[in-house]
Amino acid sequence: MRYLIIGNSAAGVTAAEAIRKIDTKGEITIVSDEPYPAYSRIFITNVLAGKARPENILMRPPGFYEEFQIKAVLGQKVVQIDPANHEAYLEKGAVLTFDRLLLATGASPQLPSVPGSGLRGITGMRTLADALEVAKRIEDTPGLPVVVVGGGLVSLKVTEALIGRGGEATLIVKSPQVLSQMLDERAAGIIQRRMADAGVTIRLGCDLRAYEGEGELEAVYLEDGQEIAARLAIVAKGVRPNLELAQGAGLHVNQGIVVNPYQETSREGIYAAGDVAEAYDPVRQQGSVNAMWPNAVFQGEAAGLNMAGQRVACRPGTRVNAASFLGLQAASVGRVRPLDGDEEEVVVNREGYYHKLVFREEFLVGAVIVGDIRSIGHYRWLIAEQKPAHFLRRELGRKIYNFSAYRLQVAPWCREA
Ligand SMILES: Cc1cc2nc3c(=O)[nH]c(=O)nc-3n(C[C@H](O)[C@H](O)[C@H](O)COP(=O)(O)OP(=O)(O)OC[C@H]3O[C@@H](n4cnc5c(N)ncnc54)[C@H](O)[C@@H]3O)c2cc1C
Repeated sequence: MRYLIIGNSAAGVTAAEAIRKIDTKGEITIVSDEPYPAYSRIFITNVLAGKARPENILMRPPGFYEEFQIKAVLGQKVVQIDPANHEAYLEKGAVLTFDRLLLATGASPQLPSVPGSGLRGITGMRTLADALEVAKRIEDTPGLPVVVVGGGLVSLKVTEALIGRGGEATLIVKSPQVLSQMLDERAAGIIQRRMADAGVTIRLGCDLRAYEGEGELEAVYLEDGQEIAARLAIVAKGVRPNLELAQGAGLHVNQGIVVNPYQETSREGIYAAGDVAEAYDPVRQQGSVNAMWPNAVFQGEAAGLNMAGQRVACRPGTRVNAASFLGLQAASVGRVRPLDGDEEEVVVNREGYYHKLVFREEFLVGAVIVGDIRSIGHYRWLIAEQKPAHFLRRELGRKIYNFSAYRLQVAPWCREA
């Protein structure tokens, strides 16, 4: 059996390992347009910050590809796939053949098309190459004015990295708060204050209108007419799945490549996983792309097992978002804001510690934490399993700080989680 995996990251590498668990003899080829062995994309901002070197963020130890008998074709882009003839064509002319194909092509930054967007000095932050290039630019030009566009996880990590290098940054956020998908306004406020204390200028509720410059970026204009001097704009306003290969091959594509619970696409023998795949989300009751690392790993594993002949459904988990910014930990799961009517929230808000639970009757439907986030896994479990959780209201009301430890006393059945 010949397995071809396009994409050498969370989904692709996990799929290759899963295949090898079952098929010890089949030929596995991983191809990537990035030149590096697989690395942890989520840590590229550590490289940008100067806290890690590329070799420190590798996903697997040296020798991984040899140990798993994987042929790695790196630094080469696949430009077309031909499902009927079981072939994939590389930009440099070579042809790869397959019996089973996995599209684990991930996603790319969504760059807003405002006037001036072709100027030099505007970049996304998705690859190790992006991080190395920006780090070099900042090293070469101390005091370079930088704007970071976007209020999500990646922009905050980029901003933290810039501050960590001793630089300054202005953060431009369209929403009235940072991390609007992950946190409510009070929790976001704690993060915003921490960032402001660290010297970040945050412009909330204001989008980018245009870039300005002669060939090179010199300034950005905001919708309110304000001009901000900037020689570098790092844009992190979400991602778009890399769908070109799937579209060219006539696969069923929506927001992402549409897959069933076995990660199968509309074409037999072709699978998709990770940021490029759109799977059914039982919470939203519709197909959705979950562009997060754990999802890529779960889907990659299911894809690999199915490619190698098992029949294993990828069970969509309740999504937990967790991150750390400037030493503050934040996490959320389920509903961040209660729906009007039949949902209500219980909040404990103290300095450096924020804990909010969202209930529908006696059931937990969401949680937001800033501070000690250890309880988030238990909340996720309570939400996923829909166990009665009314006892939590009482305990939160008592402002208990080490909530995880206390929870085991009041709800011993949680130990099974
Ligand atoms: C700075 C940053 C911080 C992040 N932080 C977090 C976090 O804290 N938590 C979290 O859950 N997630 C985080 N993410 C998101 C996470 O990295 C992604 O969800 C994850 O990498 C998706 O893995 P993937 O394998 O689906 O795709 P990707 O990691 O995008 O890999 C796809 C690979 O396929 C290659 N490729 C695409 N097309 C072709 C082609 N035609 N030919 C050859 N190769 C091709 C791409 O170049 C890429 O190497 C972060 C992302 C970034 C950029």
